[in-house]
Amino acid sequence: MAKRPNPNLAKIHRTYSVEDVANLFSVHKNTVRSWVKDGLATNDDKRPMLILGSELKQYLQTKRKSNKRKCLPFEIYCVRCRLPQLPAGNMVDYEPTNSRMGCLIGLCPTCNGIINKYFNFVTLEQIKGKLDITFPKALKHIYESSKPLLNSDFNK
Ligand SMILES: [Zn+2]
Repeated sequence: MAKRPNPNLAKIHRTYSVEDVANLFSVHKNTVRSWVKDGLATNDDKRPMLILGSELKQYLQTKRKSNKRKCLPFEIYCVRCRLPQLPAGNMVDYEPTNSRMGCLIGLCPTCNGIINKYFNFVTLEQIKGKLDITFPKALKHIYESSKPLLNSDFNK
């Protein structure tokens, strides 16, 4: 897995050429160009192309956040590993915040840290069979009859 560029390496009061950025993050110049195509702001009317450190930092921070969202339904993002992880033993606890939303809590198989994410009951079908979910007693009957409940509840 490729190393993710650390946004904090970009000094906000500096301007960088494509080459500078490539050196700074040890990536190929084409990678930097792809960031520009992807929305990284430059002084686009001037040559050579220059990138403001502040823009660079912001772009990479946003990119990092959007990477976080790429977890599969049954994966949970581990902040320590900076990776989506399949919870250890495929086991998670479900802690409801209200009747539709809750939190899935598991252990990261790599660093043993606690990993959790918000979870919408609607997506239950997507992770059934992938994860072994422990529910509080009160919710168990809902889970076991979740399909009819979801159909009646969410097709309004
Ligand atoms: Zn971890």
